[in-house]
Amino acid sequence: MNILVINCGSSSLKYQLIDMSNEEVLAKGLSERIGIEGSRVKHKPAGKEAVVIEKPMEDHKVALEIVLNALVDPNHGAIKSMDEINAVGHRVVHGGEKFANSVKIDEDVMNAVKDCIELAPLHNPPNIMGIEACKELMPNVPMVGVFDTAFHQTMPESSYIYPLPYELYEKHGIRRYGFHGTSHKYVANRASEMLNKDLKDLKVITCHLGNGASVAAIDNGKVIDTSMGLTPLEGLAMGTRSGDIDPAIVTFIMDKEGLDIDGANKLLNKKSGVLGISGVSSDFRDIEEAAEKGNKRAKLALDVFGNRVRKYIGAYAAMMGGVDAIVFTAGLGENSPETREDVCKGLEFIGIEIDTEKNNVRGKETVVSKDNSKVEVLVIPTNEELMIARDTKKLV
Ligand code: AMP
Repeated sequence: MNILVINCGSSSLKYQLIDMSNEEVLAKGLSERIGIEGSRVKHKPAGKEAVVIEKPMEDHKVALEIVLNALVDPNHGAIKSMDEINAVGHRVVHGGEKFANSVKIDEDVMNAVKDCIELAPLHNPPNIMGIEACKELMPNVPMVGVFDTAFHQTMPESSYIYPLPYELYEKHGIRRYGFHGTSHKYVANRASEMLNKDLKDLKVITCHLGNGASVAAIDNGKVIDTSMGLTPLEGLAMGTRSGDIDPAIVTFIMDKEGLDIDGANKLLNKKSGVLGISGVSSDFRDIEEAAEKGNKRAKLALDVFGNRVRKYIGAYAAMMGGVDAIVFTAGLGENSPETREDVCKGLEFIGIEIDTEKNNVRGKETVVSKDNSKVEVLVIPTNEELMIARDTKKLV
């Protein structure tokens, strides 16, 4: 069974075609600049050179058409005909309270996803465009929606209810939802496999540290808390997002800087985080380089970032009454030994002891804690696409 995994952003479409008999990626790629000048698809078939297809793409449907043609192309394709695509798995960012699991997409599911647009106005509309494009071009192929929020739906009320008037939850669904769920679920399951222990017997803290970053506390296989909230703005300091701040700062800045709602949203989502503090970049590689050269604000940005992750690990260990494993994943978590070391610094008192030598790895699945560390520290490259494909296979 071949499954096409689709992940649509506002001007992009990422895809992977996976052969589920051995979970091998047959081809993958990225269509960029959809709807703007200079649109192109970077397509990489397994075992062959990557190709770049430059063509105007006015919308996601045109982009998908080009991707499907690339997949069946006699030279750089991966399959002979579209009939070899047996199902499509779609990443959907927000499933609200309606979806605690992945689902086969039908009319009712589409309506429910549309109902969640107000909770994720930037993310759900492109996800819907991707599904609709697939429905038009592959009307008979079954499709599955996999939600970033689903894994976190096990959180207890005491974690997801904000200390606001309860009616706001009832009227508008204002609560913690959490994001990156597919990634947290994948790495938590891999950790249990690597440690040869049932996830049900483990207390795990998963740290998804990328441009967007979140932490989840997983006890007995269930998320009991996570750092992102109603939107992906809450929690850790991120590339450009502020994460947790005193909520009073928002109206204070609006007043002092003469910002309207859009201006405030932009400031918190696009101009804050480590970019805001350092003034250098949102990319941790640039910030690490600047800090090494003595840039104080770059160093400060890294310190703030590390402090936040450490604070969440401490808080979640307290909530779970202990912790057996810490997992680092995503761009920074997988590739930055410095960040991992910094985060674990000072956590020896709860039994977290990182091994500097073992920790000197990038993008490789491995245990990086000392042999006698009470808490295992693991690096696990995330694989959201595979998780989506597995759920899709299960459901179709
Ligand atoms: P993601 O959103 O998961 O793609 O992660 C992107 C972030 O990971 C960017 O801020 C990158 O700077 C960071 N990253 C990727 N590779 C490295 C690396 N080798 N060292 C430090 N940070 C990295």
